[in-house]
Amino acid sequence: MSDENRPHYLFVTGGVVSSLGKGIAAASLAAVLETRGLKVQIIKLDPYLNVDAGTMSPFQHGEVFVTRDGAETDLDLGHYERFLHGKTSRLSNVTTGQIYRNVLDKERRGDYLGSTVQVIPHVTDEIQLAIERGGEGADICIAEIGGTVGDIESLPFLEAIRQLGIRVGSKRAMYMHLTLLPYVKSSGEMKTKPTQHSVKELRTIGIQPDVLLCRSDRPLPDSERRKIALFTNVAERSVISAIDLDDIYKIPAWLHQQGLDELVVEHFGLQTRKTDLSQWDRVVTSRDAQDLEIEVVMVGKYVDLADAYISLNEALEHAGRHTGSKVRIRYIEAETIVRQGDRVLQGADAILVPGGFGERGIEGKIVACQYARENGIPYLGICLGMQVAVIEFARHVCGLEGAHSTEIDPDTSHPVIGLVTEWHDSGGEVQRRTHSSDKGGTMRLGAQRARLSAGSRARAIYNAEMIEERHRHRYEFNNHYRETIEGRGLRISGETPEDHLAEIVELPDHPWFVGCQFHPEFSSTPREGHPLFSSFVRAAREHHLSHQVDAGAAAPATSSAQGAA
Ligand code: GLN
Repeated sequence: MSDENRPHYLFVTGGVVSSLGKGIAAASLAAVLETRGLKVQIIKLDPYLNVDAGTMSPFQHGEVFVTRDGAETDLDLGHYERFLHGKTSRLSNVTTGQIYRNVLDKERRGDYLGSTVQVIPHVTDEIQLAIERGGEGADICIAEIGGTVGDIESLPFLEAIRQLGIRVGSKRAMYMHLTLLPYVKSSGEMKTKPTQHSVKELRTIGIQPDVLLCRSDRPLPDSERRKIALFTNVAERSVISAIDLDDIYKIPAWLHQQGLDELVVEHFGLQTRKTDLSQWDRVVTSRDAQDLEIEVVMVGKYVDLADAYISLNEALEHAGRHTGSKVRIRYIEAETIVRQGDRVLQGADAILVPGGFGERGIEGKIVACQYARENGIPYLGICLGMQVAVIEFARHVCGLEGAHSTEIDPDTSHPVIGLVTEWHDSGGEVQRRTHSSDKGGTMRLGAQRARLSAGSRARAIYNAEMIEERHRHRYEFNNHYRETIEGRGLRISGETPEDHLAEIVELPDHPWFVGCQFHPEFSSTPREGHPLFSSFVRAAREHHLSHQVDAGAAAPATSSAQGAA
């Protein structure tokens, strides 16, 4: 690769503790650099042994983010896409598992010509290759290393970025380290020692950071900044304070005020246009125009872990900003509805059933859906949430007793949701799956097209005939039941052009009832929002306002749902 085409590499590491928000910090910096006219790519290097995040539990690891090209990845990629205009791909998330798989494949093929295969150089070379591939075509490639400096697992990655820095030269490589400055109340002091130690650890590996991003709950006093600079050998102006902000979309502006993007372009010697944060200012100030608070009840399985539905939470937040509404999400564990009945849903301005896998809580989700359908409450069902809508409608409106998805009841008498064994992917290739296929590889994954039928709500919402959304599921609506179900009023308003797989269902005679087989939350951004979420939140507003008028006249209606099913 000639030097002009080679990206500049900004390596981001973390120290002291995990969960400091490296991903959001990297994405925010990337957003600012993008406004200077630079093409920025971000990649995430994850030191775990899983080949991808697909088989990891949302309980442990948070949401699995799906790229357009169908990779199941770390949730940080979601942050990257929300902050940047560019899209991520399967090259944007590299794991130890992938690296070792490649190395072992090469070893079996004899590519190493008989040499002893070792972590250095073979694994570290493979990591560098992955970084170079992921950053191809960018002016700046930001590579975020997961985990914390000092972890055994991340060592090969740190060694690889050290070597890559030497290979490309210091003008093309920059190291940014994120640390924590804890505030100790009893002494009234901000403590710099953990930061000093963390940098020391990094230097033992041979990496001298160029920039420190110091997380703290209050601004960094100049005296402490001087002290950190002195002990870590980092220029004083390169010790950046990253305080806790009440809105993550304020971070780009904050980092810019601290001079971080200027440090980066100076280091790389890049000529750019001026930073323009007007779009981000609009995202931030849109909050001031929120004149109504609405409550969306989300009925899920992983409700205790905020990260499990992070893209969904963000998509609702974006919709709030685009519709002048403050969206409050009330999470309800689906099993609670099974135990306590639908009264826990009272007061909801809208109900959302998100994606999910497996049996637990499914009957609670069905009750929630029935409650929304019967009481005219806006309902959005995503993936499993759409399947739930079909099951509920089949059982309670079409009289198909025991209707279910074969994922949950393989012997159901009415498999309204089942396994479709063949379909065409967006590239026109035939894909196949069977009941016994590998858990890792049988899903319909990534962006696929759907055609929306004329006159439908979906068509009006998207204002387009053909849309593209991302998928992550195994089971599909069973077209053998199409006539029965459509005949009773649940319209299939979106389907794949090649195979007629149902993509969207809707109830025309309900204020707002939509289920989609795809995951619209993966393509919502704060700047653009997403038509489906904005429309859903608008419907919630309308419900809230009309309900306010009703309030006092009658107690909230309850449905005939079988509460303790
Ligand atoms: N479990 C369902 C399926 O595999 C739905 C998946 C999802 O909601 N992401 O089809």
